[in-house]
Amino acid sequence: MGVAIGDCLLDLYAMQNEGLLASESIGVAANACASNSLNALMALEADQRRRLRHRLHALLRADATATDRRATTSRHLVRQSDVDMLLPADVGDYTDFYASIYHATNVGKLFRPDNPLLPNYKYIPIGYHGRASSLIPSGLPVQRPWGQTRDGDADPKFTPTKALDYELELGFFVSVGSSLGKSIPISETEEHIFGICLLNDWSARDIQAWEYQPLGPFLGKSFATTLSPWVVTMEALAPFRTAAFSRAGGDPAPLPYLSSPSDQAHGGLDLWLEVSLLSPRMREANLPPAILGRSNFRDMYWTMAQMLTHHASNGCNMRTGDLLASGTVSGADKSARGCLLELTSRGKEPVTLPSGEQRRFLEDGDEVILRGFCEREGFRRIGLGSCSGKILPASAR
Ligand code: CA
Repeated sequence: MGVAIGDCLLDLYAMQNEGLLASESIGVAANACASNSLNALMALEADQRRRLRHRLHALLRADATATDRRATTSRHLVRQSDVDMLLPADVGDYTDFYASIYHATNVGKLFRPDNPLLPNYKYIPIGYHGRASSLIPSGLPVQRPWGQTRDGDADPKFTPTKALDYELELGFFVSVGSSLGKSIPISETEEHIFGICLLNDWSARDIQAWEYQPLGPFLGKSFATTLSPWVVTMEALAPFRTAAFSRAGGDPAPLPYLSSPSDQAHGGLDLWLEVSLLSPRMREANLPPAILGRSNFRDMYWTMAQMLTHHASNGCNMRTGDLLASGTVSGADKSARGCLLELTSRGKEPVTLPSGEQRRFLEDGDEVILRGFCEREGFRRIGLGSCSGKILPASAR
Protein backbone atom coordinates (compact mmCIF):
# COMPACT_ATOMS: atom_id res chain seq x y z
CA MET A 1 0.00 0.00 0.00
CA GLY A 2 1.21 3.44 -0.80
CA VAL A 3 0.14 7.06 -1.06
CA ALA A 4 0.74 8.93 -4.32
CA ILE A 5 2.96 12.00 -3.91
CA GLY A 6 3.66 13.60 -7.28
CA ASP A 7 5.59 11.10 -9.39
CA CYS A 8 6.42 9.02 -6.32
CA LEU A 9 4.59 6.90 -3.82
CA LEU A 10 5.06 6.77 -0.09
CA ASP A 11 5.45 3.13 0.92
CA LEU A 12 3.09 2.77 3.89
CA TYR A 13 3.69 -0.97 4.04
CA ALA A 14 7.40 -0.49 4.71
CA MET A 15 6.80 2.40 7.07
CA GLN A 16 4.36 0.40 9.17
CA ASN A 17 6.69 -2.61 9.25
CA GLU A 18 9.45 -0.34 10.60
CA GLY A 19 7.11 1.11 13.22
CA LEU A 20 7.17 4.57 11.69
CA LEU A 21 3.41 4.99 11.42
CA ALA A 22 2.56 3.80 14.89
CA SER A 23 1.07 6.33 17.24
CA GLU A 24 -1.67 5.99 19.82
CA SER A 25 -4.25 7.82 17.77
CA ILE A 26 -3.92 5.75 14.59
CA GLY A 27 -2.97 2.29 15.85
CA VAL A 28 -5.74 0.33 14.09
CA ALA A 29 -5.44 2.25 10.85
CA ALA A 30 -1.64 1.87 10.86
CA ASN A 31 -1.98 -1.91 11.23
CA ALA A 32 -4.29 -1.92 8.21
CA CYS A 33 -1.45 -0.45 6.12
CA ALA A 34 0.64 -3.63 6.49
CA SER A 35 -1.35 -5.30 3.73
CA ASN A 36 -1.25 -5.61 -0.05
CA SER A 37 -4.89 -4.59 -0.47
CA LEU A 38 -6.98 -1.72 0.82
CA ASN A 39 -9.70 -3.93 2.31
CA ALA A 40 -8.54 -3.74 5.93
CA LEU A 41 -8.36 0.03 5.73
CA MET A 42 -11.71 0.24 3.94
CA ALA A 43 -13.38 -1.77 6.71
CA LEU A 44 -12.50 0.77 9.40
CA GLU A 45 -14.85 3.44 10.66
CA ALA A 46 -14.45 6.69 8.77
CA ASP A 47 -13.03 8.41 11.84
CA GLN A 48 -10.12 5.94 12.11
CA ARG A 49 -9.30 6.39 8.44
CA ARG A 50 -9.46 10.15 8.85
CA ARG A 51 -6.89 10.02 11.67
CA LEU A 52 -4.45 8.14 9.43
CA ARG A 53 -5.00 10.76 6.74
CA HIS A 54 -4.20 13.55 9.18
CA ARG A 55 -1.08 11.71 10.35
CA LEU A 56 0.13 11.38 6.75
CA HIS A 57 -0.57 15.06 6.17
CA ALA A 58 1.58 15.90 9.19
CA LEU A 59 4.39 13.63 7.95
CA LEU A 60 4.42 15.21 4.52
CA ARG A 61 3.99 18.86 5.39
CA ALA A 62 6.83 21.22 4.49
CA ASP A 63 7.09 22.21 8.17
CA ALA A 64 7.06 18.61 9.47
CA THR A 65 9.16 17.91 12.56
CA ALA A 66 12.65 16.52 12.11
CA THR A 67 11.47 13.11 13.36
CA ASP A 68 8.59 13.06 10.87
CA ARG A 69 10.89 14.09 8.07
CA ARG A 70 13.19 11.17 8.82
CA ALA A 71 10.23 8.82 8.58
CA THR A 72 9.52 9.91 5.03
CA THR A 73 13.07 9.99 3.72
CA SER A 74 13.76 8.83 0.21
CA ARG A 75 14.00 5.30 1.58
CA HIS A 76 10.19 5.24 1.64
CA LEU A 77 9.53 7.35 -1.40
CA VAL A 78 9.60 5.19 -4.51
CA ARG A 79 9.23 6.28 -8.09
CA GLN A 80 5.80 5.26 -9.40
CA SER A 81 7.46 4.27 -12.69
CA ASP A 82 9.53 1.66 -10.78
CA VAL A 83 6.46 0.00 -9.27
CA ASP A 84 4.10 -2.61 -10.68
CA MET A 85 0.71 -1.66 -9.34
CA LEU A 86 -1.86 -4.29 -8.32
CA LEU A 87 -5.63 -4.09 -8.01
CA PRO A 88 -6.46 -1.74 -5.12
CA ALA A 89 -8.74 -4.19 -3.31
CA ASP A 90 -9.93 -7.77 -3.16
CA VAL A 91 -13.31 -7.28 -4.79
CA GLY A 92 -15.95 -9.81 -3.80
CA ASP A 93 -18.72 -8.44 -5.97
CA TYR A 94 -18.78 -5.96 -8.82
CA THR A 95 -21.91 -4.22 -10.08
CA ASP A 96 -22.13 -1.91 -13.07
CA PHE A 97 -24.81 0.79 -13.32
CA TYR A 98 -26.10 2.86 -16.24
CA ALA A 99 -26.38 6.24 -14.53
CA SER A 100 -25.77 8.65 -17.42
CA ILE A 101 -29.03 9.66 -19.06
CA TYR A 102 -27.03 10.96 -22.04
CA HIS A 103 -25.37 7.57 -22.54
CA ALA A 104 -28.66 5.71 -22.03
CA THR A 105 -30.42 8.00 -24.53
CA ASN A 106 -27.65 7.86 -27.16
CA VAL A 107 -27.42 4.07 -26.97
CA GLY A 108 -31.22 3.71 -26.83
CA LYS A 109 -31.56 5.79 -30.02
CA LEU A 110 -29.36 3.35 -31.93
CA PHE A 111 -31.70 0.49 -31.13
CA ARG A 112 -35.06 2.27 -30.66
CA PRO A 113 -35.02 5.62 -32.53
CA ASP A 114 -38.58 6.51 -31.52
CA ASN A 115 -38.36 5.40 -27.91
CA PRO A 116 -34.75 5.68 -26.75
CA LEU A 117 -35.27 5.77 -22.99
CA LEU A 118 -37.11 2.85 -21.42
CA PRO A 119 -39.92 3.75 -19.00
CA ASN A 120 -38.04 2.59 -15.88
CA TYR A 121 -34.97 4.77 -16.44
CA LYS A 122 -36.01 7.85 -14.44
CA TYR A 123 -37.27 5.74 -11.53
CA ILE A 124 -34.61 3.05 -11.04
CA PRO A 125 -30.81 3.24 -11.10
CA ILE A 126 -30.41 0.48 -13.72
CA GLY A 127 -27.55 -1.96 -13.21
CA TYR A 128 -26.34 -5.51 -13.74
CA HIS A 129 -24.05 -7.84 -11.82
CA GLY A 130 -20.56 -7.76 -13.31
CA ARG A 131 -17.76 -10.26 -12.97
CA ALA A 132 -15.18 -9.69 -10.20
CA SER A 133 -12.74 -12.43 -11.31
CA SER A 134 -11.78 -10.62 -14.52
CA LEU A 135 -11.05 -7.22 -12.94
CA ILE A 136 -7.48 -6.34 -13.90
CA PRO A 137 -5.15 -3.46 -12.97
CA SER A 138 -4.20 -0.70 -15.36
CA GLY A 139 -1.40 -1.66 -17.74
CA LEU A 140 -2.33 -5.29 -18.27
CA PRO A 141 -3.20 -6.03 -21.91
CA VAL A 142 -6.67 -7.20 -22.93
CA GLN A 143 -7.05 -10.06 -25.36
CA ARG A 144 -9.73 -9.70 -28.02
CA PRO A 145 -12.48 -12.07 -26.89
CA TRP A 146 -14.18 -14.80 -28.87
CA GLY A 147 -17.94 -15.04 -28.71
CA GLN A 148 -21.19 -15.83 -30.40
CA THR A 149 -22.43 -13.15 -32.77
CA ARG A 150 -25.12 -12.86 -35.38
CA ASP A 151 -24.98 -10.70 -38.48
CA GLY A 152 -28.50 -9.77 -39.61
CA ASP A 153 -30.55 -12.88 -40.32
CA ALA A 154 -27.53 -15.11 -40.99
CA ASP A 155 -26.81 -18.07 -38.72
CA PRO A 156 -24.93 -17.16 -35.52
CA LYS A 157 -21.15 -17.70 -35.59
CA PHE A 158 -18.46 -18.18 -32.96
CA THR A 159 -15.66 -15.75 -33.85
CA PRO A 160 -13.39 -13.10 -32.34
CA THR A 161 -15.38 -9.91 -31.74
CA LYS A 162 -15.36 -7.36 -34.55
CA ALA A 163 -16.85 -4.61 -32.38
CA LEU A 164 -14.56 -4.19 -29.39
CA ASP A 165 -15.25 -1.02 -27.39
CA TYR A 166 -14.24 0.79 -24.20
CA GLU A 167 -16.53 2.44 -21.63
CA LEU A 168 -15.30 5.47 -19.67
CA GLU A 169 -16.53 4.94 -16.12
CA LEU A 170 -15.99 5.82 -12.50
CA GLY A 171 -15.84 3.02 -9.92
CA PHE A 172 -16.45 3.39 -6.19
CA PHE A 173 -15.67 1.03 -3.33
CA VAL A 174 -17.80 0.03 -0.35
CA SER A 175 -16.09 0.78 2.97
CA VAL A 176 -18.10 -0.54 5.91
CA GLY A 177 -20.54 -3.13 4.60
CA SER A 178 -24.16 -3.90 5.52
CA SER A 179 -25.86 -7.03 6.88
CA LEU A 180 -28.07 -9.37 4.89
CA GLY A 181 -31.66 -8.18 5.16
CA LYS A 182 -30.70 -4.62 6.07
CA SER A 183 -30.97 -1.68 3.72
CA ILE A 184 -28.69 1.37 3.70
CA PRO A 185 -30.76 4.53 4.18
CA ILE A 186 -29.71 7.23 1.75
CA SER A 187 -28.94 9.58 4.64
CA GLU A 188 -26.23 7.13 5.80
CA THR A 189 -24.84 6.07 2.43
CA GLU A 190 -21.79 8.31 2.37
CA GLU A 191 -20.40 6.48 5.43
CA HIS A 192 -20.35 3.30 3.33
CA ILE A 193 -18.37 4.70 0.39
CA PHE A 194 -14.57 4.59 0.68
CA GLY A 195 -13.38 6.27 -2.51
CA ILE A 196 -13.28 6.26 -6.29
CA CYS A 197 -11.15 4.91 -9.14
CA LEU A 198 -11.19 4.92 -12.93
CA LEU A 199 -12.78 1.94 -14.65
CA ASN A 200 -12.87 0.74 -18.25
CA ASP A 201 -15.76 -1.65 -18.88
CA TRP A 202 -14.42 -3.26 -22.08
CA SER A 203 -17.38 -4.33 -24.21
CA ALA A 204 -17.79 -6.54 -27.28
CA ARG A 205 -20.80 -4.92 -28.93
CA ASP A 206 -21.57 -7.70 -31.40
CA ILE A 207 -21.53 -10.36 -28.67
CA GLN A 208 -23.57 -8.07 -26.41
CA ALA A 209 -26.18 -7.31 -29.08
CA TRP A 210 -26.92 -11.00 -29.69
CA GLU A 211 -26.90 -12.19 -26.07
CA TYR A 212 -28.41 -9.35 -24.01
CA GLN A 213 -32.08 -10.15 -24.28
CA PRO A 214 -33.79 -10.92 -21.98
CA LEU A 215 -31.33 -11.02 -19.05
CA GLY A 216 -28.81 -8.29 -19.87
CA PRO A 217 -25.05 -8.18 -20.51
CA PHE A 218 -23.03 -11.37 -20.01
CA LEU A 219 -19.99 -12.57 -22.00
CA GLY A 220 -19.82 -9.37 -24.04
CA LYS A 221 -18.57 -7.68 -20.85
CA SER A 222 -17.06 -10.28 -18.53
CA PHE A 223 -13.79 -10.96 -20.41
CA ALA A 224 -12.00 -8.00 -18.74
CA THR A 225 -12.62 -4.80 -16.77
CA THR A 226 -9.63 -2.53 -16.12
CA LEU A 227 -9.24 -0.50 -12.91
CA SER A 228 -6.85 2.30 -12.05
CA PRO A 229 -4.71 1.21 -9.10
CA TRP A 230 -5.19 4.49 -7.22
CA VAL A 231 -8.24 5.15 -5.07
CA VAL A 232 -9.08 8.74 -4.15
CA THR A 233 -10.90 8.82 -0.82
CA MET A 234 -14.20 10.60 -0.32
CA GLU A 235 -12.53 12.84 2.28
CA ALA A 236 -10.14 14.14 -0.38
CA LEU A 237 -13.06 14.75 -2.75
CA ALA A 238 -15.06 16.88 -0.29
CA PRO A 239 -14.20 20.24 -1.94
CA PHE A 240 -15.48 18.95 -5.28
CA ARG A 241 -18.91 17.72 -4.23
CA THR A 242 -21.79 19.46 -5.93
CA ALA A 243 -25.56 19.29 -6.26
CA ALA A 244 -27.20 16.16 -7.66
CA PHE A 245 -28.21 16.30 -11.34
CA SER A 246 -30.94 18.83 -11.94
CA ARG A 247 -33.83 16.88 -13.45
CA ALA A 248 -35.77 18.35 -16.36
CA GLY A 249 -39.23 19.72 -15.62
CA GLY A 250 -41.73 16.90 -16.02
CA ASP A 251 -39.27 14.23 -14.84
CA PRO A 252 -40.50 12.31 -11.79
CA ALA A 253 -38.87 13.14 -8.45
CA PRO A 254 -36.79 10.24 -7.10
CA LEU A 255 -38.87 7.97 -4.86
CA PRO A 256 -38.46 8.86 -1.15
CA TYR A 257 -35.95 6.04 -0.42
CA LEU A 258 -33.70 7.49 -3.15
CA SER A 259 -33.85 11.08 -1.97
CA SER A 260 -32.44 13.10 0.90
CA PRO A 261 -31.91 16.85 1.17
CA SER A 262 -28.21 16.30 1.76
CA ASP A 263 -27.78 14.03 -1.30
CA GLN A 264 -29.72 16.44 -3.49
CA ALA A 265 -27.52 19.32 -2.27
CA HIS A 266 -24.07 17.61 -2.25
CA GLY A 267 -24.45 14.13 -3.77
CA GLY A 268 -22.92 15.06 -7.13
CA LEU A 269 -19.23 15.23 -7.97
CA ASP A 270 -17.52 17.79 -10.18
CA LEU A 271 -14.95 15.47 -11.76
CA TRP A 272 -13.64 15.55 -15.31
CA LEU A 273 -13.10 12.25 -17.10
CA GLU A 274 -11.23 11.76 -20.34
CA VAL A 275 -10.61 8.87 -22.71
CA SER A 276 -7.86 8.79 -25.31
CA LEU A 277 -6.57 6.30 -27.86
CA LEU A 278 -3.08 5.50 -29.13
CA SER A 279 -2.90 3.30 -32.22
CA PRO A 280 0.26 1.37 -33.19
CA ARG A 281 0.79 3.72 -36.14
CA MET A 282 0.46 6.78 -33.86
CA ARG A 283 2.95 5.18 -31.47
CA GLU A 284 5.46 4.67 -34.29
CA ALA A 285 5.03 8.29 -35.41
CA ASN A 286 5.54 9.52 -31.83
CA LEU A 287 2.08 11.10 -31.80
CA PRO A 288 0.42 11.63 -28.43
CA PRO A 289 -2.79 9.74 -27.58
CA ALA A 290 -5.84 11.36 -29.22
CA ILE A 291 -8.63 12.45 -26.88
CA LEU A 292 -11.90 10.86 -28.01
CA GLY A 293 -14.19 12.02 -25.20
CA ARG A 294 -14.24 14.32 -22.19
CA SER A 295 -17.18 14.33 -19.79
CA ASN A 296 -18.04 15.43 -16.26
CA PHE A 297 -19.43 13.24 -13.50
CA ARG A 298 -21.77 16.01 -12.33
CA ASP A 299 -23.92 15.18 -15.41
CA MET A 300 -24.86 11.74 -14.06
CA TYR A 301 -28.61 11.25 -13.59
CA TRP A 302 -28.08 9.19 -10.41
CA THR A 303 -25.67 9.92 -7.56
CA MET A 304 -23.30 7.34 -6.06
CA ALA A 305 -25.46 7.37 -2.90
CA GLN A 306 -28.60 6.60 -4.90
CA MET A 307 -26.86 3.68 -6.64
CA LEU A 308 -25.63 2.19 -3.36
CA THR A 309 -28.93 2.74 -1.52
CA HIS A 310 -30.83 1.17 -4.39
CA HIS A 311 -28.42 -1.79 -4.47
CA ALA A 312 -29.03 -2.56 -0.77
CA SER A 313 -32.73 -1.63 -0.80
CA ASN A 314 -33.87 -5.25 -1.16
CA GLY A 315 -31.71 -6.39 1.75
CA CYS A 316 -28.76 -7.46 -0.43
CA ASN A 317 -25.72 -7.27 1.86
CA MET A 318 -22.83 -5.11 0.74
CA ARG A 319 -19.31 -6.14 1.73
CA THR A 320 -16.13 -4.17 2.27
CA GLY A 321 -14.26 -3.93 -1.03
CA ASP A 322 -17.35 -4.40 -3.19
CA LEU A 323 -17.02 -2.37 -6.36
CA LEU A 324 -19.85 -0.36 -7.91
CA ALA A 325 -19.34 1.35 -11.25
CA SER A 326 -21.29 4.26 -12.65
CA GLY A 327 -21.83 3.11 -16.21
CA THR A 328 -20.45 5.04 -19.17
CA VAL A 329 -20.05 8.72 -18.30
CA SER A 330 -21.31 10.76 -21.25
CA GLY A 331 -22.53 14.33 -21.51
CA ALA A 332 -24.83 16.36 -23.73
CA ASP A 333 -22.23 17.18 -26.42
CA LYS A 334 -20.73 14.89 -29.03
CA SER A 335 -17.31 15.64 -27.49
CA ALA A 336 -18.55 14.10 -24.24
CA ARG A 337 -19.31 10.58 -25.42
CA GLY A 338 -17.76 7.86 -23.29
CA CYS A 339 -17.66 4.91 -25.73
CA LEU A 340 -17.21 4.22 -29.47
CA LEU A 341 -20.72 2.78 -29.79
CA GLU A 342 -22.09 6.28 -29.12
CA LEU A 343 -19.28 8.23 -30.79
CA THR A 344 -19.44 6.33 -34.12
CA SER A 345 -23.18 5.55 -34.01
CA ARG A 346 -22.49 1.82 -33.82
CA GLY A 347 -19.70 2.06 -36.40
CA LYS A 348 -21.66 4.03 -39.02
CA GLU A 349 -19.69 7.28 -38.53
CA PRO A 350 -16.02 6.36 -37.96
CA VAL A 351 -13.71 8.73 -36.08
CA THR A 352 -10.50 9.89 -37.76
CA LEU A 353 -7.30 9.73 -35.71
CA PRO A 354 -4.38 12.22 -36.03
CA SER A 355 -2.54 9.54 -38.06
CA GLY A 356 -5.31 9.65 -40.67
CA GLU A 357 -6.57 6.19 -39.67
CA GLN A 358 -10.23 5.62 -38.99
CA ARG A 359 -11.83 3.72 -36.14
CA ARG A 360 -15.31 2.26 -35.90
CA PHE A 361 -14.28 -0.01 -33.05
CA LEU A 362 -10.93 -0.92 -31.45
CA GLU A 363 -8.23 -2.69 -33.45
CA ASP A 364 -5.41 -4.93 -32.24
CA GLY A 365 -2.54 -2.90 -30.79
CA ASP A 366 -4.77 0.05 -29.85
CA GLU A 367 -4.19 1.38 -26.35
CA VAL A 368 -7.04 3.07 -24.48
CA ILE A 369 -6.14 5.46 -21.66
CA LEU A 370 -8.63 6.88 -19.14
CA ARG A 371 -7.80 9.86 -16.94
CA GLY A 372 -9.73 11.87 -14.40
CA PHE A 373 -9.22 14.95 -12.28
CA CYS A 374 -10.95 17.44 -9.99
CA GLU A 375 -10.12 21.12 -10.22
CA ARG A 376 -11.47 24.11 -8.31
CA GLU A 377 -10.05 27.53 -7.66
CA GLY A 378 -8.51 27.76 -4.21
CA PHE A 379 -8.04 23.99 -3.93
CA ARG A 380 -5.28 21.64 -4.92
CA ARG A 381 -6.00 19.74 -8.14
CA ILE A 382 -6.57 16.03 -7.58
CA GLY A 383 -5.73 13.49 -10.27
CA LEU A 384 -6.99 9.91 -10.41
CA GLY A 385 -3.90 8.65 -12.25
CA SER A 386 -4.50 6.66 -15.39
CA CYS A 387 -6.27 3.48 -16.37
CA SER A 388 -4.88 1.96 -19.56
CA GLY A 389 -4.96 -1.24 -21.53
CA LYS A 390 -3.72 -2.40 -24.93
CA ILE A 391 -5.65 -4.78 -27.17
CA LEU A 392 -3.94 -8.06 -28.04
CA PRO A 393 -5.06 -10.22 -30.99
CA ALA A 394 -7.58 -12.98 -30.27
CA SER A 395 -6.13 -16.31 -29.25
CA ALA A 396 -5.86 -19.09 -31.87
CA ARG A 397 -8.72 -21.59 -31.54
CA1 CA B 1 -20.71 -0.31 -18.46
